[in-house]
Amino acid sequence: MTASQTQPAVGMWEYAPAPESPDIVTIAPEYGLFVAGEFRPAGAGGTFATVNPASEQELALVADAGPDDVDAAVAAARHAFEHVWGPMPGSERAKYIFRIARILQERSREFAVLESLDNGKPIRESRDVDIPLAAAHFFYYAGWADKLEYAGFGQDPRPLGVAGQVIPWNFPLLMAAWKLAPALAAGNTCVLKPAETTPLTALLLAEVCQQAGLPAGAVNVLTGDGETGAALVRHPGVDKIAFTGSTEVGKQIAGTAAGTGKRLTLELGGKAANIVFDDAPIEQAVEGIVNGIFFNQGHVCCAGSRLLVQESVADVVVDRLQRRLTTLRLGDPLDKNTDIGAINSRQQLDKITQLSAAGEAEGAQRWSPPCPLPDRGFWFAPTLFTGVSQSHRIAREEIFGPVLSVLTFRTPEEAVTKANNTPYGLSAGVWTDKGSRILWMTQRLRAGVVWANTYNRFDPASPFGGYQESGFGREGGRHGLAAYLNV
Ligand code: NAP
Ligand code: MG
Repeated sequence: MTASQTQPAVGMWEYAPAPESPDIVTIAPEYGLFVAGEFRPAGAGGTFATVNPASEQELALVADAGPDDVDAAVAAARHAFEHVWGPMPGSERAKYIFRIARILQERSREFAVLESLDNGKPIRESRDVDIPLAAAHFFYYAGWADKLEYAGFGQDPRPLGVAGQVIPWNFPLLMAAWKLAPALAAGNTCVLKPAETTPLTALLLAEVCQQAGLPAGAVNVLTGDGETGAALVRHPGVDKIAFTGSTEVGKQIAGTAAGTGKRLTLELGGKAANIVFDDAPIEQAVEGIVNGIFFNQGHVCCAGSRLLVQESVADVVVDRLQRRLTTLRLGDPLDKNTDIGAINSRQQLDKITQLSAAGEAEGAQRWSPPCPLPDRGFWFAPTLFTGVSQSHRIAREEIFGPVLSVLTFRTPEEAVTKANNTPYGLSAGVWTDKGSRILWMTQRLRAGVVWANTYNRFDPASPFGGYQESGFGREGGRHGLAAYLNV
């Protein structure tokens, strides 16, 4: 078996390979840091490699930012904030942000291919979800830049200053857009730290900032590892920290920021319940369950990783789900027919493997469709656990992979109790024919986002964020502006 495409299950259509060409994007052998509008090597000269997780091949060397580079980037952001970007009228800032949005659209194929190469996600997703949504965020917040006084935060809401923004590897460009667009629209300047395993689209976005003529220092991109992130978060010149990632690191950051006067928003993990009632349209629900947990290999903080299904329909739902999973195609992320791409890193693959083993050891029944895996790269077959109890680790801990834990319930009250039995509180899904039941459930589910008869829907106009160990603060919509204004 090659790394291209795995074989279809018996009796299925065979698809001809439909690979997107990687030639649309030019990957440089080495990338610098983006500071004060220019690319430059790290002060200490360090670099690290980013690899294609589908092949384990090295894509490029990337500069490893140290404390001096953090100083330089924060100084550049401060200068831009005080002298150029901060004083600029909102209507002028909007022009730059609109320009970034349009260039993202024009270069979307390039971005999609680069994202799939560096992250491992299927091109169908990077092309149809990540890149269009990233552009949509810039469009949406560009529209707010000259209307801040109508956002409901007073006559003349002021920006905070320099924002230090640390983002994860699961939606590299999209998370950069979620952070940069509202910050810039509100008049802040930014220092962005992308994840170590997925730096390339953030660096291409830096090039887009140059192309758009964005004033130097308004956006700076520092590549590096967790230490670079920690140095940025600690830096006294940072006024606002925005972090998306693990709850563990989020807690450390909250500790670092405490007492410093820095503003902080945290978007952390989740263990969402996707709740299916017996009156739900079953086929539609099965599509929603699949989208909920197998989209982006399950590397989604709001993934519907716990399926709560009403006991009376549990057998039929699991049966149809298994049939549907048998049709999913795992393999080459650049193939347009691929549903499941590569796991982003060996480290993440190990974590998924260990937690799945714990599921078996604790007595849950494990099932995967026939799914040969390519020889090279990081892969994990779509996996279903039935007979899961609430105390199992696979029902409590975020697996962040293509693994679904199935639990059952009998009454709506029991569904709510089980859904809320988690330290997290980011998202939930409800599948039922009854509008009144949707309202009853949404009032009781402790989750920042509740989807009804759909899942994983995103819109720049809609706020997103969590409760409890899922963090605090909202991104998206008018609420997302509040995180970058002195309100
Ligand atoms: P992570 O360690 O929290 O990484 C998120 C970002 O923070 C990365 O840019 C990371 O840099 C950086 N970072 C790491 N340590 C830091 C520190 N002490 N101070 C400041 N920044 C720091 O997450 P991960 O290791 O990539 O993933 C671990 C788990 O987190 C996953 O298995 C998943 O459960 C969860 N996760 C959640 C989300 C989400 O969207 N909520 C996203 C990703 C992961 P490096 O890239 O160099 O580590
Ligand atoms: Mg990579």
